[in-house]
Amino acid sequence: MKDPFGKDAERLIREEFGDLLTLLQRIPLSVSVDDVLTLVAWVLASEEPPEKLLRRSPLEETKDVFRFYALLGALALSPYGIELELVEKALVKLYGKRLKGSDLSGTMLMVEEIQTGEVPERDRKILEKPMDKNVDPSERERRKLRYRMRLAEFLTLWDGSLKEVYIRGGYAYLTQETALQLWERAFTRRIERASRLLSKMSDELPEFYGELRERLRNIAEEHFKERLEKLGKVGAQPLRFDLFPPCIKEALKGVPAGMRNYAITVLLTSFLSYARICPNPPRKDVRVRDCVESLDIIEKEILPVIIEAGNRCTPPLFEDQPHEIKNVWYHLGFGLTDRPTLEDSGNSTWYFPPNCDKIRANAPGLCKPDKYCRGVKNPLTYYLRRLAREGRKDAAEGSE
Ligand code: SF4
Repeated sequence: MKDPFGKDAERLIREEFGDLLTLLQRIPLSVSVDDVLTLVAWVLASEEPPEKLLRRSPLEETKDVFRFYALLGALALSPYGIELELVEKALVKLYGKRLKGSDLSGTMLMVEEIQTGEVPERDRKILEKPMDKNVDPSERERRKLRYRMRLAEFLTLWDGSLKEVYIRGGYAYLTQETALQLWERAFTRRIERASRLLSKMSDELPEFYGELRERLRNIAEEHFKERLEKLGKVGAQPLRFDLFPPCIKEALKGVPAGMRNYAITVLLTSFLSYARICPNPPRKDVRVRDCVESLDIIEKEILPVIIEAGNRCTPPLFEDQPHEIKNVWYHLGFGLTDRPTLEDSGNSTWYFPPNCDKIRANAPGLCKPDKYCRGVKNPLTYYLRRLAREGRKDAAEGSE
């Protein structure tokens, strides 16, 4: 199966297993952890996936789907960690290579091959330059329009200028290369969405996925070693306010009465605490005391920022509602208190930062997306991505 999110794989899962959870529960009976890791472990040895992963016999197709979904099962236990970055990187390369040059209709990308005569000859001549002797045959092939995609779908994936695309009758017309780029984007987004959705069922997954997640983490730490060393490991680290997403910057400025409790107590509290002390939660029900040994960071670095932002609200939140500080502790997982000890963590749930769609629904004025928001579903992911980018930049500058 060329695309594990494509129609054939979907059919296999539906007909053979009924749903994804059943598939994930059955996978450990068919493949081993080592077997699954072959899809990603090659990144430690080479830039390109090995030939044997590119050419599979039809008998291996189902096993290949099992390996892929096993990785998603492991990501469900760590939907924001470096394991996700590793899996995305390895699989985009592997499946992208398998798809290169082949027909992309039938993949998860909603494209169809275009019919002869569909693009007016005059336009085709301008775009593909079929008669131009200065354009060599491979370039001519590269320029060839092969697919069409509904404009509404296309716009959710495209971040370039519309001047670069041939649009006609409500469709965007795509070359193989452009379609593959869009497929990569759609594929990455689907992996992220699937691992987040599956994380809600992580309690029902067999132990197999815990072991797989640990092994994935080892590979990811090895692969991103240089960057992690530069960043001081993906873990607790000082906050980089300049890399915060726009919604958090808005909340920090202070907000009007109607949005105060949501912006400060829910969004800012959860974002700052996870970003500062546990950017990659190891499991769903993590507590503050699993990540720090004292309340110092919370009391000296996080609370003052929350209180200042609350004071900037109109009217100032904590002057107006002094009891709201108990709610802040509640959202940090200490229960309803204003004098917690570290041992109290776990008395309530430590709220994870809400997803972007929830922020837009509850406090639309906070979401003012910038270019880094594209494809991001949670403000913490935005921050981690920008941190990672900065890390790469610093590493490159360092090596220069
Ligand atoms: S898209 Fe998400 S991260 Fe970006 S500003 Fe909106 S809510 Fe924040």
